[in-house]
Amino acid sequence: MVTIDHLGENVATEAEAREAADAYVRLLDALALARLKAHVSVKLTQFGLDISDEACLANLRRVLDRARPSETFVRVDMEGSAHTDGVLRSVRAMKASGYDNVGTVIQAYLFRSADDIASLCAEGIRVRLCKGAYKEPPDKAYPKKTDVDANYVKLTEALLAAAKETPGLYPALATHDPKMIDAAKRYASQHGIPSSSFEFQMLYGIRRDLQDQISKEGFNVRVYVPYGTQWYPYFMRRLAERPANLWFFVSSLFKP
Ligand SMILES: Cc1cc2nc3c(=O)[nH]c(=O)nc-3n(C[C@H](O)[C@H](O)[C@H](O)COP(=O)(O)OP(=O)(O)OC[C@H]3O[C@@H](n4cnc5c(N)ncnc54)[C@H](O)[C@@H]3O)c2cc1C
Repeated sequence: MVTIDHLGENVATEAEAREAADAYVRLLDALALARLKAHVSVKLTQFGLDISDEACLANLRRVLDRARPSETFVRVDMEGSAHTDGVLRSVRAMKASGYDNVGTVIQAYLFRSADDIASLCAEGIRVRLCKGAYKEPPDKAYPKKTDVDANYVKLTEALLAAAKETPGLYPALATHDPKMIDAAKRYASQHGIPSSSFEFQMLYGIRRDLQDQISKEGFNVRVYVPYGTQWYPYFMRRLAERPANLWFFVSSLFKP
């Protein structure tokens, strides 16, 4: 399965934000025409979150309206911590006005995330859990990777426990880390949580061997597929996670 992301973030004008939403509308039309059951992932700074709440919500609403007839799920990605409240406020506003095809993302590196997960689950809002990809200050996020990993496992367990109580919550565990994946599988099997009640997610092209393996084991796997011309910030985040990707990228440029 896939979730498709039209690359872009931090636009500077309302016109650019509208164009970004237009691109999603075209994407949703193409998916519906091809009868593809995909999700889409959006970033709210691409829809104008830094410019005006009103414009951003209007763009998000337009995308959700277009996604609704084909029951396409729209995931609102999480960005840097300066935007956490704005993203959660916008997703809650959509859910409160009757959209059930919207969910968001929580980052295990933030101290606040256990509380956010508890309230989002109580409100019936679907969560994707990731470690977090932005540079954050030590008063907001765990600086040590071991602490982020420990929190990821704790939050995975909270999400799986909530999914057992409320099957529609269907959490998404986004990671390429075999230790996180094993911890999730172990908790699910120990607590009788069926593999159909959650999914794993990974980025397009990363650990394809692992994507195959866990899919063959019978788990749901969704691949995040970014496309478009605004690839630079996405690429830089991937490089920061794994500098070896720079060599991979440069060598692929020279392949015949
Ligand atoms: C589907 C999906 C959606 C995401 N959405 C968001 C979001 O909305 N907001 C956000 O802040 N972050 C998001 N992220 C990014 C996430 O927060 C992490 O930065 C990223 O996934 C790396 O963390 P990891 O869990 O894979 O573990 P890490 O500890 O970073 O890596 C574990 C192992 O995975 C492999 N690996 C990891 N990254 C790479 C790479 N770039 N290239 C090659 N191998 C790699 C390596 O083998 C590594 O040892 C998303 C990630 C995924 C998979």
